[in-house]
Amino acid sequence: MLKNVDINMYDDKDKELLKSFSKQIKAFQIDKDNYVLGFYDRKIFEIVRIKGNIDIISQVLEQFQHVIINVPIRDYDIQKIINSLIRHNKICNKNIKKTVITNRYFLTEYTNNLEMIQIHLNNKKCDGNIPSLKNISKKIHKNHSDKLCSITCFFDKKTIKKLKSFLDKKYKTEKGGIFKINNTNHEILGNIYQVKIDTHENGAQEDVDVISSVYNFHTHPYNAYISHNCELGWPSLDDLKTYLFSFLSYDTFFHAISTLEGIYILSVHPKCINKLKKLDDIPLHLENWIDKHLYVSKENVKLPEGKYIKNFGNVNSGEQFVKYMATKKYPKWKCNIFSMNFLPWKILDENVYTCFSIHFPKIKGKCHIKKK
Ligand SMILES: [Zn+2]
Repeated sequence: MLKNVDINMYDDKDKELLKSFSKQIKAFQIDKDNYVLGFYDRKIFEIVRIKGNIDIISQVLEQFQHVIINVPIRDYDIQKIINSLIRHNKICNKNIKKTVITNRYFLTEYTNNLEMIQIHLNNKKCDGNIPSLKNISKKIHKNHSDKLCSITCFFDKKTIKKLKSFLDKKYKTEKGGIFKINNTNHEILGNIYQVKIDTHENGAQEDVDVISSVYNFHTHPYNAYISHNCELGWPSLDDLKTYLFSFLSYDTFFHAISTLEGIYILSVHPKCINKLKKLDDIPLHLENWIDKHLYVSKENVKLPEGKYIKNFGNVNSGEQFVKYMATKKYPKWKCNIFSMNFLPWKILDENVYTCFSIHFPKIKGKCHIKKK
């Protein structure tokens, strides 16, 4: 059933996926309306697309020792999707090796850059003991490592509305503010953190109270777009450097920027955290590199073209900006300095659990999760 792919028989979205990964991707196929696309590596089959009857997964399971299913995290349908996957394919407790919350940027076009829940299955003979969804959250693999902590966050509905309202034409200048986070327990996702606005004020980009907090934000309101004559409002060079400074000086775990296209989230890249946390200030060599490589001018950037960048293409959405930034590794340390997420309004408006993950250093071997 495993086939090399004949690209012509798929729909446009699948064609796009197949073109980007022509070498890695295989189709597991019953007929033209029922198939699974995924990455195949001898023993492992990682499903990235299911078309037609989802019972097809049982057949994939019969042939591979290790099957990974990626489901984008969306509030309104994630329980339903996972429930029907499990029941239709008679997946039992023994089959679920682990679940992982992860971000699969390579699937960006297709799912936006939502976090996914990955269910890792083995092909053990099932005893018919179908799990309750709670058991899935129990198997969530904690991303904490020896030196790093990681948490999954989502914005509270009212906070999303507020962050959007701050962009209104009536606000002549940007706003800044502080978030607090609250621990909640989700049936499938387990322990996740709800992000709420704590306080906000006007023109707070340089405000010490905001910068010195653990979770904070500022806005790029409508008027900022007018003054730059642009239609996209990604983080500026100053935004990046101010965030890095507040990470080094005040342990700021993330900074959100509310813009007309959506919310950008800046945090420090997990691979660079341990290099950075030793520093008190941004060293000159790093600042020079940031100035030279992470500056993307917004002046006169118009849609649909966006900004053309040589060897990359058109940066014409928040998703593309994040993708472009992910290509920029600091050569001295061979890692990205920033980890960036982008959550578009069209998804924020409809879902509660539009999740993003952040990482921060362990202190004396412990993860101190500050509430604000
Ligand atoms: Zn800004």
